[in-house]
Amino acid sequence: MNYPSTLIEEAVNELSKFPGVGKKSAMRMVLHLLKQEVVEVNKLGEAIIKLRNNIRYCTRCGNVSDTELCNICNSPKRDQQLICVVEDLRDVIAIENTGQFTGTYHVLGGLFSPVN
Ligand SMILES: [Zn+2]
Repeated sequence: MNYPSTLIEEAVNELSKFPGVGKKSAMRMVLHLLKQEVVEVNKLGEAIIKLRNNIRYCTRCGNVSDTELCNICNSPKRDQQLICVVEDLRDVIAIENTGQFTGTYHVLGGLFSPVN
């Protein structure tokens, strides 16, 4: 693909590294970003940088956290004796969205494949 600007090409190349995002989708994102106010695009960039630089992992369960212990491990309402072993964060989010599980987790961080 020929790009009218090396800045656009660089942004397309970076965005197309996301899973499921090809060059065409990345180009649509870039065109969208160019239509936004600079302050809004800066907010997005800062959120991504803050996320990557500051995200922590709960020292008890391995879930993502802003603090040493995640909100789930820190909650007195959770049954600490009931532990659900999950592959990664997506499983925690899916189970939490059901609102039915009252225990805690052990997040393997994608190091374990249930199939294997
Ligand atoms: Zn935790």
